[in-house]
Amino acid sequence: MTEWETIIGLEIHAQLSTESKIFCGCSTRFGDEPNANTCPVCLGLPGALPVLNKRAVELGARAALALGLHINNCSIFARKNYFYPDLPKGYQISQYDQPFSANGELEFMTAERDHAGHPIDWHPKRIRITRLHLEEDAGKNVHEGLPDVDRFSYIDLNRAGTPLAEIVTEPEFRSSWEAYDYVNHVRRALQWVGASEADMEKGNLRCEANVSVRRKGDPKFGTKVELKNLNSVRFMQRAIEYEITRQVAVLESGGRLVQETRLWDERAMETRVMRSKEEAHDYRYFPEPDLPPLTVSNDFIEEVRSNMPELPDARRKRFMDQYGLSFADASQLTSERSLADYYELAAESSGNPKAAANWIRSELLRELESAEITAAASPVTPQNLGVLIRLIDEEKISGKQGKEVLVDMFSTGETPDQIITKKGLVQVSDSSEIDRLIDDVMTANKGQLEQYRSGKEALFGFFVGQVLKASKGKANPKVVNDRLREKLKAQ
Ligand SMILES: [Zn+2]
Repeated sequence: MTEWETIIGLEIHAQLSTESKIFCGCSTRFGDEPNANTCPVCLGLPGALPVLNKRAVELGARAALALGLHINNCSIFARKNYFYPDLPKGYQISQYDQPFSANGELEFMTAERDHAGHPIDWHPKRIRITRLHLEEDAGKNVHEGLPDVDRFSYIDLNRAGTPLAEIVTEPEFRSSWEAYDYVNHVRRALQWVGASEADMEKGNLRCEANVSVRRKGDPKFGTKVELKNLNSVRFMQRAIEYEITRQVAVLESGGRLVQETRLWDERAMETRVMRSKEEAHDYRYFPEPDLPPLTVSNDFIEEVRSNMPELPDARRKRFMDQYGLSFADASQLTSERSLADYYELAAESSGNPKAAANWIRSELLRELESAEITAAASPVTPQNLGVLIRLIDEEKISGKQGKEVLVDMFSTGETPDQIITKKGLVQVSDSSEIDRLIDDVMTANKGQLEQYRSGKEALFGFFVGQVLKASKGKANPKVVNDRLREKLKAQ
């Protein structure tokens, strides 16, 4: 079998989180009445003039800086001409040969996955970013939910003129998981600095992948296929994987690939031809005559930078250095900014950063996920989680009781002390009280005691269980263990 190599390049369109559009004052609010948020500028009426929204430039700068990219002091808006019903002007204002940011490089962590989907061996990968530029979005054709949709197309221009950052990479990804990890990296970075909500399901982050394969060692690229309709990062990964298999199968059976655009069909789990190779587009780009060149000073860039929070990768590294967390722990806790903030407060208030990480990763995240909220909205404050961890560390309650208390704290919003008092949960660590329980258990289980003493040591766990049960779960398991070892061997 020939060894094949996969070549993937990615384009991401991220909607910048401004309140108004990029070249007019219309609202960017989602879900309003169709065409409610329009004006002569975004409707493309003759004579209307665009005015650049400064906030879009600030958020574009945040996006670039969050990805470690250089910002050009001067960039040029250009008209990209094409005809489509949802593009009222007949051109889109974008950037062409002088983009906002170009020739960048970005490092992210990636890993292949085993059959169960678990990452194997995280390692850093560098990827070149061809460009990040600013542009306006088009409107939307509507083919559903309106009268006579079989005869008419409807157009909603609320989205026309929404600011986008388009981020294009060089074709340097070699597997679907690299692409997956990269998109997640970009998404988190944009959310982290507030540049974009970057939610693929809401459509404010859109992604396209160019995929081709070639025999290992072949210097030439194979025929590339463009994948669209990738509505989540996971769908994108599956679509790329499917496409690699399909392309290799075609080539190995002696067939030829055609350059085309394919859509991912999640239900059928396959890619489908959307359109075959079009004429190479001639967009007839030229500088937008109604907008001056966009100049951003170094002072402006530094001001944006100084208002940014500590970036996720730096924070992950600090969590590992400062709190002794593993890469996996630190990665999960920096997967989202409010979670990282939450963790730091809990680590501080518990005085036990490692335990705080464990409690958040196992117990708290499960509650947050089932309630579908982020750490910022958690009914358990990080301070109260810290108090709970202290109570366990001081052996006032057991770890098992702690889990019950946390579930209660989550549903009631009460403090650990309130719940412990209410439920009468106090851990018994007094050894004379525990000895008494052990004596009772030994008397009630003479047969097992004899077997244990004649060498069947596996019964130790049985005795621990019996004593804990007799204490109604209140006995300190550590003291029970110590005392049992002592008393079971005594003749
Ligand atoms: Zn408008």
